[in-house]
Amino acid sequence: MASSIDLEYTKAFLLKLLNTPSPTGNTDAAIALLEAEFLDLGLQGKRTTKGALLVTLPGKKSNAGRAVTAHVDTLGGMVKEIKENGRLLISNLGGYYPGSISGVYCAVETSTGKKISGTALLTKQSVHIHSINDVHDSAQKLNTLEVRLDARTRSKAETEALGVQTGDFISWDPRAEITGTGFIKSRHLDDKASVAAMLAAARAMTQNKITPAHTTTFYFSTYEEVGHGGAAGIPADVEEILAIDMGVVGEGQAGDEFSVSICAKDGGGPYDLKMRRRLVALAKTAKIPYKVDVYVNYSSDGTAAWRAGHPARVALIGPGVDSSHAYERTHQEAILNTAHLLLEYLQAE
Ligand SMILES: [Zn+2]
Repeated sequence: MASSIDLEYTKAFLLKLLNTPSPTGNTDAAIALLEAEFLDLGLQGKRTTKGALLVTLPGKKSNAGRAVTAHVDTLGGMVKEIKENGRLLISNLGGYYPGSISGVYCAVETSTGKKISGTALLTKQSVHIHSINDVHDSAQKLNTLEVRLDARTRSKAETEALGVQTGDFISWDPRAEITGTGFIKSRHLDDKASVAAMLAAARAMTQNKITPAHTTTFYFSTYEEVGHGGAAGIPADVEEILAIDMGVVGEGQAGDEFSVSICAKDGGGPYDLKMRRRLVALAKTAKIPYKVDVYVNYSSDGTAAWRAGHPARVALIGPGVDSSHAYERTHQEAILNTAHLLLEYLQAE
């Protein structure tokens, strides 16, 4: 089945998605891109009132429905305040270390949709003015960062005249790149790598005319990074939710950038044991490289669904992603292995 995943298509789509800004709360363009890809497969999606996308794959059985979910929203920023020097104070969208956006290129989207490029810089940035120690100390806090717009402005009034306002969204440049060795380097692989794996699996199912064992809803959420993406929108009669989100890679983690991670427990507690064992058995039988892992500072849309009172069983899998919430990296094999395990899951009882 792995061979039925079109890797070149998947990578091309992932690049397009990575280059479509979708900071939490401003995700319509990414959802529209996905919607169009599913429409190409003959699958008409449906948007929820919160802007998420639902695509249903009818199954052999319509009872005991399933949902598979990934999130298109990413970390980002919002203009908190226009400073007297014309630069912008940043309010973060999602959780990240301020130092990880220091020096990063960005775009500010004004209320008319105009995009103005800029750079997030420390307020004490130039070492020709400040001592290196002062520069170092200021890298730890968001309020010591500001966005310098690529426009002629030295005052609040001049920045306002550009159309920039408090509340405008800021997207960080993903710097997406696929290397000749199959690595994918970019911001926001969390969770766009999983979105690509889901689309790849849906495409393989549709093009090979494979029907899922149970009717399965693909749910692309839009508020995961702020904790409530999966809290609403997943059909109430679904009995099983498979959340697909990045596997944690780094010191002490079992996961790597090549395997599909199967999460046993994260910050929200353990996932459903029977479902996890079934996923491990499917990976073993299909010889899919996998790693069972525990994540410490993490929660998923599956947990959000649970916390909102959804009674389904929930499990979590995903491609291993290094250096999450900074400049991340995975390998195409991790995306393939995730898509492959999803294909096995969809077809199994
Ligand atoms: Zn995520």
